[in-house]
Amino acid sequence: MEVICQIAYLVGAICFILGLRGLSHPKTARRGNLIAAWGMGIAILASLFYPLENVPNNFVWIFGALLIGSIIGWISAARVQMTGMPQLVSIFNGLGGGSAMLLAILEFYKSTNNAGSLGLVVIVFTLLVGAISFSGSILAYLKLDGKVKDKNVILPKHQFINSIFLVGCLVLFLFLVLNPSPQLLLIATIIFLVYGFSFVAPIGGADMPVVISLLNSVTGISAATAGFLYDNQIMILGGILVGASGTILTVLMCQAMNRSLFNVIMGGFGSSNVSSAGPVGGDQGTVQSVQAVDVAILLNYASRVILVPGYGMAVARAQKQAKELEEILAGKDIDMSFGIHPVAGRMPGHMNVLLAEVDINYDKLLDLEKCNSELDETDVVLVVGANDVVNPSALDDPGSSIYGMPVLEVWNAKQVVVFKRSMKPGYAGIQNPLFFKPNTKMLFGDAADTLSAIIDEIKNLG
Ligand code: NDP
Repeated sequence: MEVICQIAYLVGAICFILGLRGLSHPKTARRGNLIAAWGMGIAILASLFYPLENVPNNFVWIFGALLIGSIIGWISAARVQMTGMPQLVSIFNGLGGGSAMLLAILEFYKSTNNAGSLGLVVIVFTLLVGAISFSGSILAYLKLDGKVKDKNVILPKHQFINSIFLVGCLVLFLFLVLNPSPQLLLIATIIFLVYGFSFVAPIGGADMPVVISLLNSVTGISAATAGFLYDNQIMILGGILVGASGTILTVLMCQAMNRSLFNVIMGGFGSSNVSSAGPVGGDQGTVQSVQAVDVAILLNYASRVILVPGYGMAVARAQKQAKELEEILAGKDIDMSFGIHPVAGRMPGHMNVLLAEVDINYDKLLDLEKCNSELDETDVVLVVGANDVVNPSALDDPGSSIYGMPVLEVWNAKQVVVFKRSMKPGYAGIQNPLFFKPNTKMLFGDAADTLSAIIDEIKNLG
């Protein structure tokens, strides 16, 4: 049986690696996800049936918990709207950290008398990273869901408070290893949980993608260290893969924001979210509002069009209309492609997922650099539900909280049409001077409705 389980571990590990490879491209992502899920199924079964001495047969409890967890997971994944995906991912991530935390507590009680100090180091480390990942992800979920505003959880001198917390956590870590007791375990667990919450509290606004990928890698690390507790190779390997890919994603997100990780963590975004370009709603000049028919005429005489999707496209579920517009324009020999900003939407790769959902050809997607290099020769840019990722303050307003973040420089095109419902700001909570530029027109309304209206008008134009 042991040999069979070891072979199953190997198969599971290969599935994880092939799954990750598949996830690196939109065309193979769905298959990659399925392969990784099969790998996880095989790994769980192999772990359950691995012959171990002195381990009671708890199959009823284990399969009962698996069944309940699978039903809850299935229902929440099936019910979630596309706009709720980032929140769901955050919660799932947090539950991974929470599980590692509970395993560490259990092992602490089981082994305080016989675990060596190295064993206790692993247990307490698992407790620390698991607790940070759990409470941090819960706060990230609440922020993404709009249930908690950045300003409500930031304290004066918050970074200083966090530094004290960090030192406190390290001291507790040492005490718990040197002098393990249930009372100290309780205090440490509470402080570690509060630190996770406090760590995420001052990071917000446009910096959220970084914190989300960072929490993802912390969860991977906690799963890997929990694997060490049980000497379970597949758990260690799976955790390391999640930790490593989360770290790579964090680096990529930092690059996308043009910030160092230290700067994001210490930056305390949200404390300075009023740009020197004026507070939200401040007097920026006048905007030019247009109707669908005007945009249809603009498009009809264009030869090159770029659509820049943002979070609002996910809210409006306007990707179907975007695809239809692309097909209609293609029929008129008008080339339309899609400019993708790495942090557009509310989770890494959000826009790629939306566009893949309606089978938009991957060759039509332009990354940030490619899109910016083509904007000079573009007749019309349609900014559909994007805001922060096309904000010129990022380049020319040192007082802006997103200053330094590379953005899609859509104002370099001949004409820009912005699709949104109001003059409200985007996620970073700052005004967007793009809306007041002479070559920008605003088309107000739900993006799915306004795009449909444009499609009808183009059809009428013949
Ligand atoms: P933004 O949040 O900046 O702007 C979205 C815009 O969509 C809003 O201005 C809103 O305006 C508009 N909108 C909303 N609903 C609709 C609708 N039904 N029809 C038309 N427009 C609509 O989005 P971006 O994608 O430009 O930027 C993403 C932001 O989120 C960045 O600040 C990024 O850092 C942050 N973020 C990204 C994460 C990631 O991993 N990608 C994770 C967490 C945060 P109105 O209400 O007037 O319609």
